Amino acid sequence: METVAKGAAVQTNPYEAALMNFDMASEQLELDPDIRTMIRNPERVLTVDIPVRMDSGRIESFTGHRVQYSTARGPAKGGIRFHPNVTLDEVKALACWMTWKCAIVNIPFGGAKGGVTCNPKKLSNQELEHITRRYTAGILPMIGPEMDIPAPDVYTNSQTMAWIMDTYSMMKGYSVPGVVTGKPLSLGGSQGRNEATGRGVFYTIQSACDFLNIPMKGAKVVVQGFGNAGSVAAHLLDSGASYVIAVSDSSGCIYNKNGLDIPKLILHKTRTGSVLDFPGSEKITVDELFSLQCDIFIPAALENAITGENAHRLDTRIVAEAANGPITPDGDSVLFDKGIFIIPDILCNAGGVTVSYFEWAQDESHIFWDESEVYSRLEKIMKSSFIEVMKIHHDRKVNTRIAANMLGIGRVAEATRLRGLYPQ
Ligand code: NAD
Repeated sequence: METVAKGAAVQTNPYEAALMNFDMASEQLELDPDIRTMIRNPERVLTVDIPVRMDSGRIESFTGHRVQYSTARGPAKGGIRFHPNVTLDEVKALACWMTWKCAIVNIPFGGAKGGVTCNPKKLSNQELEHITRRYTAGILPMIGPEMDIPAPDVYTNSQTMAWIMDTYSMMKGYSVPGVVTGKPLSLGGSQGRNEATGRGVFYTIQSACDFLNIPMKGAKVVVQGFGNAGSVAAHLLDSGASYVIAVSDSSGCIYNKNGLDIPKLILHKTRTGSVLDFPGSEKITVDELFSLQCDIFIPAALENAITGENAHRLDTRIVAEAANGPITPDGDSVLFDKGIFIIPDILCNAGGVTVSYFEWAQDESHIFWDESEVYSRLEKIMKSSFIEVMKIHHDRKVNTRIAANMLGIGRVAEATRLRGLYPQ
């Protein structure tokens, strides 16, 4: 596998990892080679230059991408990431995973992703707004409620979605709430969208604990990446009598052997911007975090967190991939050899896109649901998708990652076969 250097560390190329899993699942499915050729590559890729007037008065240029991997099963769907390490290959990988993910939970979407290479921590709110609006103008020919519907991802949020919705609506001349999901409630957002990803992670952990006969009460949990997905999953596990003994974010890692007070930690992070210095916790190193004995380890930050180098440290029974692509193929081999149960990302974190689908359906129908309706529909979809993946895992004797890929890729392949090739 080819690797790319990022700073001092050598990183696995996530797009190559995604294609490697695609090839393994396609072999298992004995996919028709023509269909395989039709769905292996992204359908449409756009890179845009984003000139922005900064607060200093000078103009700076940023680079953004939007990748539509597949529209075989419906409009393309996927988040937008703002991060200094965004590359086109990363966006392609994320768009590829979105495609199989939407198919696994059987919602009528294809897959897409977007990203802007920038460091939001060093940008003012006004600069972020300018970047978002100019990026939206750049990708405008590709997006729309029937074409491609963006959503939040790392370092973007409901405010970012509001700016995209407004920019798109201004260009169209009328309000188009269905162009993005993850919007504020007052602009046509859905109840429950903000916590949908973490809640979906929680439902799949419940299913995995049932499947493996692991009691959740008293289970020890470690969360790497205490952001939207990680903090919500931690909160629900904490409320359900599990102990979240350690968490980390980009500023460092904290630990309390008796369990951290998660509601207070969420307030602390909102107030200070970091998990560090949380009263009653001790600071630990990243290596120590990865070595803690626990029952459930949740990588909820970025790709390539668990690699062939550090996977041997993990002392857990379940890894629940809240993040996309947090384990490299080498890391996968080590964990599967150790008998650790992996809930693969394209299943585990599919709660976000599922409630995005609910939001889009509500916007399009102009009828809105209450929170309990959103959560009960989400729980049903997450738990039945888990069972479908486990059935393939069991019947075909493949690991959980290949099983999830087989379910998603199989559905996209079937839609592609039925639609046929235009023009012949
Ligand atoms: P977020 O920006 O809310 O949180 C990311 C967190 O990761 C932050 O707290 C950041 O400090 C932390 N982080 C960054 N680098 C880190 C490092 N090296 N070590 C430890 N922590 C680090 O983002 P999010 O929306 O929670 O997304 C997290 C992951 O979940 C991403 O992989 C994303 O693609 C995936 N995901 C998110 C959603 C969603 O709806 N938000 C849906 C599906 C998947």
